[in-house]
Amino acid sequence: MSKRYNCRQCGKEIISDYNNPKKYCDIKCKTNYWNKHRPNGYYKKKKGSSKCKTCGVKISSTHANQKVCSSQCYERQSKWQAINRYKKHLEKSRQLLNRANSIVFVND
Ligand SMILES: [Zn+2]
Ligand SMILES: [Zn+2]
Repeated sequence: MSKRYNCRQCGKEIISDYNNPKKYCDIKCKTNYWNKHRPNGYYKKKKGSSKCKTCGVKISSTHANQKVCSSQCYERQSKWQAINRYKKHLEKSRQLLNRANSIVFVND
C-alpha cells in the first residue's frame, strides 16, 4: 500500500510505501532540511564520541552515543571507571580525616 506525503523541505508530493514513509523527496532536500533544523551541538557531539575512550581507535559506528569501539573496551572502561571512583573515594576520605585532625577541641 502506498500513501502520498509532502517533502518537509520543498513541499513536493512524494508517493511512498505506507510502512516506510518518506519525509523528503530526495537526499538534497534532506540535507537542506538538516542544515536548517539540526539541533544545537549535533555535530559537535558526534565528533567528540568518534574515538574509543579506552584505546583511542576511531569508531566507525554512526551511533552518536557510542564511546567505546568494542565490548572488550567497554569492560576495560567500566573497570577503569570503578578504579577511578575508588581513588576519588579514598581522596575524599583522606581530606575528611585531615579536616577532622585540624579541629581543636576545647574542653572547658
Ligand atoms: Zn523536496
Ligand atoms: Zn577501543
